[in-house]
Amino acid sequence: MNMLDTTHDAALRSWVESANAPDSDFPVQNLPYGAFRRAGSDEPLRIGVAIGDQILDLKQARGQCPWGPGIDELLVPLAAGELKPLMAAPAATRRLLRSALSMALSEGSDQAPFLELCLVPQAQAEMALPCTIGDYTDFFTGIHHATAVGKLFRPDNPLMPNYKWVPIAYHGRASSIGVSPQAVVRPTGQSLPPGTEVPRFGPSQRLDYELELGVFVGAGNAQGRPMDMAQAEGDWFGIVLLNDWSARDVQAWEYQPLGPFLAKNFATTISPWIVTREALEPFRVPFTRPAGDPQPLPYLDSAANRERGQIDIALQVLIQTEAMRAQGLPPAELSRSNFRDAYWSVAQMLAHHSSGGCNLQTGDLLGTGTQSGPQPGQGGSLLELSQGGKQPVSLPGGETRSFLQDGDTVVLRAHCQREGVRRIGFGECRGTVLPAPVG
Ligand code: MN
Repeated sequence: MNMLDTTHDAALRSWVESANAPDSDFPVQNLPYGAFRRAGSDEPLRIGVAIGDQILDLKQARGQCPWGPGIDELLVPLAAGELKPLMAAPAATRRLLRSALSMALSEGSDQAPFLELCLVPQAQAEMALPCTIGDYTDFFTGIHHATAVGKLFRPDNPLMPNYKWVPIAYHGRASSIGVSPQAVVRPTGQSLPPGTEVPRFGPSQRLDYELELGVFVGAGNAQGRPMDMAQAEGDWFGIVLLNDWSARDVQAWEYQPLGPFLAKNFATTISPWIVTREALEPFRVPFTRPAGDPQPLPYLDSAANRERGQIDIALQVLIQTEAMRAQGLPPAELSRSNFRDAYWSVAQMLAHHSSGGCNLQTGDLLGTGTQSGPQPGQGGSLLELSQGGKQPVSLPGGETRSFLQDGDTVVLRAHCQREGVRRIGFGECRGTVLPAPVG
């Protein structure tokens, strides 16, 4: 099943010159969607498409540019700031719009003289959540994270016996999801310091990030009508970066028996640009299981998933402390990993989530869980990199971190790269820790 088309052609160049820079996250082969307005204005939100360091404003583009048959009606909701109609549309419709945008933004396009007037520099845009998120679920598909963290919480029993059979998740909180760049207030909560018997209540002393991706649901499914794997594969719209901020001291005390609660629900940050399933097509790779591991149960298995269920997305976390900023030091890399190492695929997340009859809805967000690599130093959280706080991480400028300090900025980045294919990226997911409220 080859889903590649002319929009993926590595030779395509854009008349937006910045999109042709080899390291641009947003070449004409990417075309991610986001919601924005001009910074400082009170204009209504509209959907835009990132191209190089610019945004194509689809509200203006609809009004000021001629479009081919069938495209104008797709632009109507986007111009009004509504992404969900496109998210819920059949794959063929989404490909039709992608193809029209690709032609419009490619070199030699007749539409260029009109669309030049509809560009907004990304530096002058205020981004918003791409859609209203009704429900948010966070999975746990990173087996290297599950094992490393399991060792810290339960040294003799790191990976629970259900892990290799069930795509584990918990229901998260949609109200506290924000878009990058986000200021995150240090949470206050209950924890049990080591060696004590009475819990304390105060600002978290073990604030952490988690390197994740977030998957936006497409059309969804009716209650009581689970998606099979083929439907699940066809029903995710796209992917963003996601930082699942976590208060480890609160988590350790509260998580049994019902799982994460206040340790996770105070803030979640996502990157503003949804990289679509269509843009990710060239980077699909087989879903495999290590020898000796159980194969997925039939409802989580399909030939298509085995052939191309995983996605090769290179992930990176960086940190810039307040002192680093003061010294003019750039963000420093903390770790790298790859989403292809996830134990469960995106389609398996959707199929499992709906398997009991739960209805997924357009715009629901599914976190992938922390994506850590197999090697030491590839942990997708400070909890892992500092071995539970025992081995602080050294930073440029002489500081160390076991957990996050006030003023720390965490930056997540991701890109896809393959021989013969144009590199695409996800932009940034950036958040800065603010002090806990006084009192
Ligand atoms: Mn998480």
